[in-house]
Amino acid sequence: MKTTDPVARLDHAHVWHPFTQMRDWLRQEPVVLMRGRGARLWAADGREYLDANSSIWTNLHGHHHPRINRAITRQLAQVAHTSALGLASEPASRLAAELIAATRVRRPLPAVRKPALTKVFFSDDGSTAIETALKLTYEYARRTRGPDHKPRFLSMQGAYHGDTVGAVSVGHISLFHAAYKGLLFRTDAVMAPYCYRCPYNRARPERMDARLHRRCQWECVDQVARRLETARRADRPYAGFVFEPRIQGAAGMIPQPDGWLQRVAERVRDHGALLIADEVMTGCGRAGGPGILASQEEGVTPDLVALAKGLTGGYLPMAATLTTEAVFAAFLGEYGEFKTFFHGHSYTGNQLGAAAARASLELVMAPEGQRRRERLAGWLDEDLKTLWAHPQVGDIRRVGLVAGIELVRDWTKRTPFNLKEQAGIRVCAAMARRGVLTRPIGNVVALLPPYVTTRTELRKMVGALRDALCEVFGTVDS
Ligand code: PMP
Repeated sequence: MKTTDPVARLDHAHVWHPFTQMRDWLRQEPVVLMRGRGARLWAADGREYLDANSSIWTNLHGHHHPRINRAITRQLAQVAHTSALGLASEPASRLAAELIAATRVRRPLPAVRKPALTKVFFSDDGSTAIETALKLTYEYARRTRGPDHKPRFLSMQGAYHGDTVGAVSVGHISLFHAAYKGLLFRTDAVMAPYCYRCPYNRARPERMDARLHRRCQWECVDQVARRLETARRADRPYAGFVFEPRIQGAAGMIPQPDGWLQRVAERVRDHGALLIADEVMTGCGRAGGPGILASQEEGVTPDLVALAKGLTGGYLPMAATLTTEAVFAAFLGEYGEFKTFFHGHSYTGNQLGAAAARASLELVMAPEGQRRRERLAGWLDEDLKTLWAHPQVGDIRRVGLVAGIELVRDWTKRTPFNLKEQAGIRVCAAMARRGVLTRPIGNVVALLPPYVTTRTELRKMVGALRDALCEVFGTVDS
C-alpha cells in the first residue's frame, strides 16, 4: 500500500521487521511511534496508545522515567562506551555488585541446596545471555568430567530462549525452529506443565475451575525424573537443565504450578546437572517477588541466570549472565593453559546500559516498587475476571505482571483455533484500533503492563481486549 507518512514510506522501502510476515506488513499503514511517557506512547499521526506489552516485555518503570533518564545523561557526560576487553568501568563494576546483592534477597521457602551467585558476564540481549550460559555450562562439564565427555542439555517443551544458534538449539517451538534444524545441536525436551491442556488432568472442561477436579499428582515432575534417570542409566548425564522459572513466555504464557520448580530443581541437582534459569522475561520483578529472580520465589538459586529485557528498565540493549564461584573457577589457570573463556562482544559492559540498569535496579528493589507491582497485579486479576464471560476465552493466566489470555474456538472442549485463522493477530489489531498495543503469541493475547500503569490505564487495556473480542468474534449475550 502507499503510505502517507514519510517515515512509514522509508520503513516500507527498507526495514525488515522481526517475526513479521513482511507481505502483510507492506499492506498496512504502520504505527510510527515518536514519544512515550509512563505507559503511554504517541504516534506520528498524534494518536495515543497504551503500551500493554511493555515494548515486547522490556519496559518496567514506564517510558521517559526521570530517574533512568538522569542516570543515562549523567553517564553520557562522562563516556558512552569503553571496551570491557581488558578494561574495567565504574557503571559495570557497580552494577555487577548490585545484581549479586539483589540475588541474595531472603525468601521464606527453604532453599534447594543453594550455591551463591558471585560473578556476572555482560552481553547484549536475551539470546547472547543464554548463549553465554550454554557455553559456560558446556565447558564447565568438560572440565569437570573430562575432555571426552559430550555435554548434553535438557530443556522444556515449548521453550523459547532466543534466536542465536545455541539458544535455538535449546528451544522447542517448531514453527520458529524447524527450518534451522540442520544448523542446530541436539538437545532433549522434557514435558513442561501446561495445566489448561494437561494430558493427566481428566477434568471436564465445561467447568471454569475444571483443573481443580482432579488433584494434581505431579506427573510432569515424574516425567522429568524419569528422563534424568534414563540419561543416568545410559551414562549420558545432562550438563544443564534450561528453564524459565514460574511461567514460560513465548511458549504461550504458561505458568507452572507452585512447587513444580522446587521439585524439579532438587532432581536436577541430584542428577549433577547445572540449573540454567532463563530470567530474560521473568526477572527484575516481572514474574513477582521482591528480588530480581523469579526462581527464588520457588526457593531455587540457579547455577546460571540469564537476565536481559528489563535489565535496563527497557531502555538499552544489555544483558547479564550470572554464575557461581564453581563455574568461574573452572576457567582459571595460567595463561598458557588456555582456560580463558574465549567469548565476548564489542559492547560487553556498555557504560550507558550499565548506568540505566543501576537506576532501574534501584527502582525494582525499592519496597515502594514492590508494593506498586503487587497492587497492579491485584487490579489485573480483578479486570481479567471480566473476560471469562466471552466464549472465545478458554483460559486466563497470570504470574506477577505477566498475563496470557488463551483464545479458543470452543471453550467447552478447549478446541484451539487453527493458527492460520490468526485469531490472536486479529484481536490485537482490533485492540490497536482502540489505542492499546500488544502482540499475541499464537492464540494467546499477552498483557504485560509497565509497573507504573495506573488503575484507569489498566482498565483501558483490559477493556480494549474485551471490546476487541466482541468485534472479532461477536458480542456476548448477557
Ligand atoms: N529468553 C526468553 C525467555 C525470551 O522471552 C526471549 C525474548 N522474547 C529471549 C530469551 C531472547 O531475548 P532477545 O530477544 O533479547 O534476544
